[in-house]
Amino acid sequence: MKPVIALVGRPNVGKSTLFNRLTRSRDALVADLPGLTRDRHYGEGRVGERPFLVIDTGGFEPVAKEGIMHEMAKQTKQAVVEADVVVFIVDGRQGLTPHDKTITDFLRKSGRPVMLVVNKAEGMKYTSVTADFYELGLGDPYVISAAHGDGVADLVNEALDLAIAQKPAEEVPVEPGKRGTKIAIVGRPNVGKSTLVNTLLGEDRVIAFDMPGTTRDAIEIPFERDGKHYTLIDTAGIRRRGKVFEAIEKFSVVKTLQSISEANVVLLLLDAQQDISEQDAHIAGFVLESGRALVVAVNKWDGLESDRRDEIKIDIERKLNFLFFAKFHFISALKGSGIAPMMKSIDSAYSAAMAKLSTPRLTRALIEAVEHQQPRRKGSIRPKLRYAHQGGQNPPVVVIHGNALESIDDNYKRYLEKHFRETFSLVGTPLRIELRSSK
Ligand code: GDP
Ligand code: GDP
Repeated sequence: MKPVIALVGRPNVGKSTLFNRLTRSRDALVADLPGLTRDRHYGEGRVGERPFLVIDTGGFEPVAKEGIMHEMAKQTKQAVVEADVVVFIVDGRQGLTPHDKTITDFLRKSGRPVMLVVNKAEGMKYTSVTADFYELGLGDPYVISAAHGDGVADLVNEALDLAIAQKPAEEVPVEPGKRGTKIAIVGRPNVGKSTLVNTLLGEDRVIAFDMPGTTRDAIEIPFERDGKHYTLIDTAGIRRRGKVFEAIEKFSVVKTLQSISEANVVLLLLDAQQDISEQDAHIAGFVLESGRALVVAVNKWDGLESDRRDEIKIDIERKLNFLFFAKFHFISALKGSGIAPMMKSIDSAYSAAMAKLSTPRLTRALIEAVEHQQPRRKGSIRPKLRYAHQGGQNPPVVVIHGNALESIDDNYKRYLEKHFRETFSLVGTPLRIELRSSK
């Protein structure tokens, strides 16, 4: 599981600046699609080969009893509980404030490891910029400039070392070779995740699942269906009957993100008895950003009036159109209906995500696409698409080489994507197209 770093501190100390710096590279991968809702407070980052999750907690006002500040404090507390390491940021230009002390007290009580970080330290001497902050009793501060990037990579490496030192070396043993496709079931509370897990595993398995003593770490549950092996990844919100997570809110973004990143295929569950909510769209946005293969199951399809069935289909079409690449299934976790075709789609989504596309086949498909419809001229220049090769798997990336490709518009890119999808039957996985012009 990716280590989780929470950024905590007063407003204006530079949390979002640091957050953006840590997550920027990932953002660039995802196009802005209509309807896509993102949560800018959660992101994925990477230093060298080391991936991590980062939470920006917003401005923390520990004393507020109600209102938006109280809400933010609540969210900060949850983020701190779920983090492996807390990066506590203070402002080196402003110096120590009473508020920093209140936050320190809170963090100390949380029991999480804390790194004290003095930001805005560019052009300043270590001793002078840190002098104020020893009083907090959090040891030698780290100094960074989030705006300029100074010290940031070192900070993250230290944070990750600390996170790994925290983790108990405990793994649920799974027979090698029997793990099959790894599935994460995600969705907001009450959509029917636990019920579906019951249906997939059988009651007795879920009892073991709910035993107290399970830790914060990954849980993998292998199961077999129609002779195929699968592994269910610790699924956000399902362990709520156990003792461990009682202090945490029922829905956890961190758990959801971690499950997604451990999975081969994400199964997004929606509730047909409710309209698609902001939270559904958020979770869908996380899946899209992750690049994982996806199957959507609209649950509680049993006993619905046909009017309602039409309504929810229209609602989905309108609010989740950015998931056009995924297969939708209408199921009842309770009655066990619609499960077999859903599992088939999980299999084919996984194959699509892992597809190997040879350069000659891709190039042939590219030439076909261009013959059928040329890209538009821009002034006197017409982009020339020459050949294509595969630049990555899971999700597949198609790299197209040619000249003047910068003048290809999004419409044409979508046309190409559609053509590659159809040619190679790529259903259930995002597909990325990269254009590389040679001069
Ligand atoms: P947040 O409220 O903690 O998320 O703080 P922001 O990231 O929004 O930053 C608050 C202000 O501090 C902005 O004007 C930033 O440009 C500025 N800032 C952030 N990091 C640095 C830094 O490393 N050096 C300087 N000089 N300013 C910074
Ligand atoms: P979770 O919070 O996502 O794990 O949701 P649960 O599995 O706990 O289900 C929430 C509620 O929805 C429970 O009362 C379930 O009995 C009900 N439920 C789950 N699946 C179905 C279904 O397919 N049809 C109907 N009618 N109700 C369901």
